[in-house]
Amino acid sequence: MIKESTLQPEHAKSSYHVKAGDYFFVKVNAGEILRIVDLEGNQAADTLFYYANNPKERYSAMDTIREQGALYLTTGSKLKTNHNRDLLEIVADTCGRHDTVGGACATESNTVRYDLEKRCMHACRDSWMLAIQEHPEYGLCKDDITHNINFFMNVPVTVNGKLTFEDGISAPGKYVELEAKLDTLVLISNCPQLNNPCNGYNPTPIQILIWE
Ligand SMILES: [Zn+2]
Repeated sequence: MIKESTLQPEHAKSSYHVKAGDYFFVKVNAGEILRIVDLEGNQAADTLFYYANNPKERYSAMDTIREQGALYLTTGSKLKTNHNRDLLEIVADTCGRHDTVGGACATESNTVRYDLEKRCMHACRDSWMLAIQEHPEYGLCKDDITHNINFFMNVPVTVNGKLTFEDGISAPGKYVELEAKLDTLVLISNCPQLNNPCNGYNPTPIQILIWE
């Protein structure tokens, strides 16, 4: 569901430019609003969320899908934890649909999906691992990399129940906005994937804005 925000970028408490292939890792406090902007269009932002006070409680795709009775995420979607609590809610969305069933790219899946020679290519899982290593203060480890959301990514499910990775439905300047219900760690891999159309074969930067 398309819904525009009333928040003005000049009133944001912080703004970050995240280059293609980089990670973004920050704590957002309960009540704050996080906006992710697809600056040039057709980008995928592979995102993990954790309850900041206990990262073992984290975003759960299956709890979220079951509770909302729908596969895609958009305005009004409540992002559930594995303890079935509301972690965040999507409060504005100018893209209209986000994926949470396609998973993130890894060097291993690149070899299965594309070619053995793709093994050395940069993947989202590498970015998350680097983020965890460079930010020990958040207390995450390899085991904590689980279900993610692919903001702006188009993974339609066919009538036969198959997943397909399709050309994006996002466009330059489209954004999604989330309100944190609990203190939340936000870990984004701005996807470096070059082998499928989720990034239009051309990874591009995103912008992150946070309002108090
Ligand atoms: Zn990726």
